[in-house]
Amino acid sequence: MRYGCTLFQKYKDVNKHPLRSWIEVDFARLEGNVRKIKASLPEGVKYVCVVKADAYGHCMPQALLRFLRGGADIFAVANLYEASRVREIVSDKPVLVLSPILKEERPLVFDFGATPAVSSYGEAKAFSDLAKAKGRVLNVHIKLDTGMGRAGVWHESADEVLPQILSLDGIRVSGIFSHLSSADEDRDYTFGQFDIFRKAAAKHAREGMLLHLHNSAAMRYVPVEPPFNAVRMGLLQYGINPYDDGGGYENLGLLPVLAFKSRILAVSKKNGRTAASVSAGYADGIPSGFTDSARVLVRGVRCPILDGVSLDETVIDVSMASGAQVGDEVTFIGEQDGAEISLGDYSRWTRRIPWETMVAIPRRVDRIFKY
Ligand SMILES: *Cc1c(COP(=O)(O)O)cnc(C)c1O
Repeated sequence: MRYGCTLFQKYKDVNKHPLRSWIEVDFARLEGNVRKIKASLPEGVKYVCVVKADAYGHCMPQALLRFLRGGADIFAVANLYEASRVREIVSDKPVLVLSPILKEERPLVFDFGATPAVSSYGEAKAFSDLAKAKGRVLNVHIKLDTGMGRAGVWHESADEVLPQILSLDGIRVSGIFSHLSSADEDRDYTFGQFDIFRKAAAKHAREGMLLHLHNSAAMRYVPVEPPFNAVRMGLLQYGINPYDDGGGYENLGLLPVLAFKSRILAVSKKNGRTAASVSAGYADGIPSGFTDSARVLVRGVRCPILDGVSLDETVIDVSMASGAQVGDEVTFIGEQDGAEISLGDYSRWTRRIPWETMVAIPRRVDRIFKY
């Protein structure tokens, strides 16, 4: 019996094990989602698979293997540690590091065969010098700031800075990209970012470069057409819609990959209602503040949460779930007896965005893999 560890077991055995809280990661669905998204892309468009933060909490390296089988062309991570984890498994695909790399970390880029995103001439020059000292040529992508206001060459300086970076002989610019700041909230602003990028690409892009800006939210309404020849997929590949309305991707038929479950530890009758204590508290990633509309599933019935999420347990009202007893499965996210609670609903009820929900389930919670 192990808690807080990944159990390499088949899904069908879950109820024979005394698991208290666990997530289930459905790798068959994950692979299916990638295949479906990829199939929807125009011929030749590359699939940049975003696997930062332990594949959005979906467990590396197993998730990585399924992304490969699904057809991922390039992997994207946030930092060099994550790049090294991809490199343990994948030797023949680019690994793009999206966030800035610290000065002291720069030599590691060569050890891990990573592709840094450069945001200034100074940074590009430093990589070029390092590469030349090693007798190598380093692939980099130029990160352009089209309005996010974080890292990246600010677009108004692009005409000055991009030719300087492109003239360095220790690096090869294999791509130019930018990040969208509010694709799920502000379409006009997003179209503006696309326009800025197109103009810069028209002037500075060269044959063979990857040009990418689409994230999951932009895929809903911005067609993938030239000059864009790659998309960066995060949330969508995990089967989750970035929008509250749940619409926009029906043609893809994506399926949610992650479920989050626990078990009833005790049942008590008080004041005409039946309360159950569930083996998951805020140390298991359950936030202490649920909204009133929050529900969990017990015996396929939607049960309200009674106030009182503690470190180890959460108290729910199982009055409607007749026969509820100690040991019953409690579903916070996922399907149970034909009923379902989506990760989107759970996120709204806990006042989080879906990305946060996925990465906020600590290692104390067991990981079960469905193949
Ligand atoms: C995380 C990230 C993505 C993925 O975004 P989703 O909304 O999850 O699809 C894409 N691009 C960059 C630069 C990122 O940091």
